Amino acid sequence: MKITRISVHQLDLPLAKPYFLSGGRLKFEVLDSTFVRIDTDEGTHGWGEGCPWGVTYLPAHGKGIRAGLEEIAPVLIGEDPRQLDRINRLMDATLPGHPYVKSPIDIACWDILGKISGMPVCEILGAREPDPVPIASSISTGSPTEMMADIQYYRDKGYRVHSAKVGANVDLDIARITHMSENQQVGEKIFYDVNRSWLPREAITVMNAVDAANSWFEQPCETLDEIAMVRARTTQPICVDEGLHAFTDLNRIHRDGVAEIVNIKVNRVGGLTKACRLRDYCLETGISMLIMETGGSVLADTAAAHLAQSIPSVSCLGTWSCQEMLTIDPAPDQGARNIDGCFIAPAEPGLGVEPAMEFLGDPIAVYR
Ligand code: MG
Repeated sequence: MKITRISVHQLDLPLAKPYFLSGGRLKFEVLDSTFVRIDTDEGTHGWGEGCPWGVTYLPAHGKGIRAGLEEIAPVLIGEDPRQLDRINRLMDATLPGHPYVKSPIDIACWDILGKISGMPVCEILGAREPDPVPIASSISTGSPTEMMADIQYYRDKGYRVHSAKVGANVDLDIARITHMSENQQVGEKIFYDVNRSWLPREAITVMNAVDAANSWFEQPCETLDEIAMVRARTTQPICVDEGLHAFTDLNRIHRDGVAEIVNIKVNRVGGLTKACRLRDYCLETGISMLIMETGGSVLADTAAAHLAQSIPSVSCLGTWSCQEMLTIDPAPDQGARNIDGCFIAPAEPGLGVEPAMEFLGDPIAVYR
């Protein structure tokens, strides 16, 4: 089997309402998403999506994906999409770094492998574990009562895991976390996602001031060095999210005991192939995981849902549904959808999502 054509589509995904991270420091209103279709000489095709949330979130952006694909895509024409390790080595040799550029290609190849195998992607990744995957809500930074109202909105949709975005104001953060923790229900998890905004001094102050059972603190500071400083001075569980880009980061997190949990975002780490290597390291070393995408439509959500579904629920704390926040759905009624606050990876071969061309329009680039 050979890759004969790679088509690239761009789609703006408007958020239903402006969204604030990192204590209000970062504001987002529309996501720039890239859809990649890979066609083969045997008639099978696959889809992948790359959406790095917004330009201020990570060292990644939508235009960067399309520019990187200009370099990578021509090299992949004629290659066998089923040989995922070779595809990834070719991409890394052609364009070192830039893992987020390669993710939609890698995902589309997994989609093809699933379709020709007659198996859903989670099963090729090693398992369909029996428990549905809990979806974490995404609670925009606000006042304590505003954030609690948002949690209630998601509770009504079945959510039992909540990602509450805090940061940037120590006194207000203590008030926010105290209010949410006091109103936390039995069986509910609330994790406090700082999105890098605290200095170590601030993180230590807040984390030692609050009583937050059944919770953890995500990416409290910018760097792994800073988080390691915090780790040594608090007993609260810590999750690394934006600080995990490559296998070497995870090795450092484990070796130095920086965190007990990592948030593996498929686009940020370069696709399902590389995310699987991180998954396996975490399973071998007892590190718990969140598995999600950096952003995107149901196509991106579903790729992450397949990986999450392959992990025993004791080790996978949840995923995230970006689709809930968008006003556009390019694959109506397909893929992983919220069922009582959980995703179940689709049973169809491959990813189980075929975007509708009426939403995507003509490709903006075709390589053949
Ligand atoms: Mg996070």
